[in-house]
Amino acid sequence: MKYVDEFRDGELARLLAATIAAEVQPGRTYHLMEFCGGHTHAIFRYGLPDLLPANIRLIHGAGCPVCVLPIARLDMAMALAKHPDVILCTYGDMLRVPGSGRTSLLKIRAEGNDVRMVYSPADCIRIAQQNPDKQVVFFAIGFETTTPPTAVVIEQASRLQLPNLSVFCNHVLTPAAMHGILDTRSSGEAVRIDGFIGPAYVSTVIGSDPYEPFPAQYGTPVVIAGFEPLDVLQAVLMLVRQLNDGRCEVENEFTRAVTHSGNHKAKAVVEQVFELRDTFEWRGLGFMPNSALQIREQYRALDAEYRFAGLLQQHADQLSRLPQDNKACECPQVLRGLKNPRDCKLFDNPCTPDNPLGSCMVSSEGACAAYYQYGRVK
Ligand code: SF4
Repeated sequence: MKYVDEFRDGELARLLAATIAAEVQPGRTYHLMEFCGGHTHAIFRYGLPDLLPANIRLIHGAGCPVCVLPIARLDMAMALAKHPDVILCTYGDMLRVPGSGRTSLLKIRAEGNDVRMVYSPADCIRIAQQNPDKQVVFFAIGFETTTPPTAVVIEQASRLQLPNLSVFCNHVLTPAAMHGILDTRSSGEAVRIDGFIGPAYVSTVIGSDPYEPFPAQYGTPVVIAGFEPLDVLQAVLMLVRQLNDGRCEVENEFTRAVTHSGNHKAKAVVEQVFELRDTFEWRGLGFMPNSALQIREQYRALDAEYRFAGLLQQHADQLSRLPQDNKACECPQVLRGLKNPRDCKLFDNPCTPDNPLGSCMVSSEGACAAYYQYGRVK
């Protein structure tokens, strides 16, 4: 398959790995964070750590949308799902994430509530049209890649004047999270990051331009990379060369899909429907300013946080008294790159993809799930 097989060539991978091994400087360790969970998955699926020299340290970042959603927001979605008039729709991975009181949307569905998995937010329009006596709520999550489809649905629902569809918006922004991770350097609890392997799909939407502050403000280079194994190895080589040369730039390895300014159509519809939130909580990173989106006032009639404000307020006190994360779960530290999934004493026993105790074990993009699936043999 074009653009896939040629980027999975084993012989080329070995050649690239040998070039990296020849160019790394002895006595120097290169701490490279792959922000995106898709990269984490590719790194383990193709066994890249085994190909790389020991002084390349790959650190897994916070780029898994399911993993970074805080329990409070998941609890709000569960409160909505329990309303007898509501059909709550969301992506499959969200159904299994444990919330307060160790419950999940899947368990709530088993209790008789109408919770549905959708592949696309566009499905919600059809469900709303087929169920005029119900309130359909789309529990929207994700980074810049999944935001444009949500924006299109809000715009369509507005044009159709659908009275029974609303969106519970939890869309978050990648560059803001990267700022958040680098800003923790001043807290004394920060992981060392010499360079970022920049996200693939997110960058097809936003382009390479939003990463320019990282070399300028933090002295941290970024190389945007595709999701195939050769993409990741090439990005590692490009970062090693920048660090060896004393250069600090944004470079684009994924030129077959990412441009400087991104996808103008997608960015325009997002701009039309959404605006920045003042602040938003991220699991592991805490509250970060301007790190998430909310629905603009013009589309407020479709905003579930306004439509169900009374219900959410009513549940807020009750939810805050429930037990939160499993105390031994290290997801916050894993998401900040401070710990490896194997450092968590719950990893593999009892926390597994069939019995996830933390968000990082739920989605295939979560670091714990990637370690479980491909990295349990030491
Ligand atoms: Fe959390 Fe499970 Fe990962 Fe431990 S192994 S950090 S409990 S998700």
